[in-house]
Amino acid sequence: APLRRAAYRLSVTQAGQLPADDGAEVAIAGRSNVGKSSTLNMLTERRALARVSRTPGRTQAINIFDLDPGQRLVDLPGYGYAKVPEALRRSWGPLLEQYLRRRGSLRGLILVMDIRHPYTAHDADLIAFAEGCGRPVHVLLNKADKLSRGAATQEMARLRRIPELQGVAMQLFSAQSGLGIDELHERIARWLTP
Ligand code: GDP
Repeated sequence: APLRRAAYRLSVTQAGQLPADDGAEVAIAGRSNVGKSSTLNMLTERRALARVSRTPGRTQAINIFDLDPGQRLVDLPGYGYAKVPEALRRSWGPLLEQYLRRRGSLRGLILVMDIRHPYTAHDADLIAFAEGCGRPVHVLLNKADKLSRGAATQEMARLRRIPELQGVAMQLFSAQSGLGIDELHERIARWLTP
């Protein structure tokens, strides 16, 4: 799997610092505590990688990881942090928006949610914005291991009926047990393949 070759490249706090906009990249986003770092760990089988993205000062940055040549994995700033000062929120909102709006090499957005309290107002905003930019969104209903299989399936069915989520791909996932990892790998491979 090419993701195992993920190597940290740089952290970006301004759009001008982004690497050249060529090749293909996949971005991952999610509210704090939904398991975005655990998902990065599981995907790349590299513990150190997610640690990078949690280093103080980098949690509000866009963290870029190189995969195979011309392919990147992009860790977007966590959003919905209650304690983030307003000034900081004002600065990374526009960075995220600019990235989603203008990044030519961005193939799709993986949005991690906690299946026990999914689709918050922040998630809804991000999905609406990403779709408005023509970005495909793939939702991971993470921590599915915390529910019975039946309850998890039922919750996914409920979410799939929400009109705003009609165009959004969605799957059960567990960054702990590995549930759904093959489906996720396939999605990412399809996005990254020219
Ligand atoms: P982040 O803030 O989104 O990067 O979240 P973390 O990856 O740090 O995970 C937050 C907490 O949820 C940690 O205690 C993880 O161990 C736990 N966690 C993450 N994913 C899962 C999962 O799929 N199942 C379970 N049971 N716990 C998880």
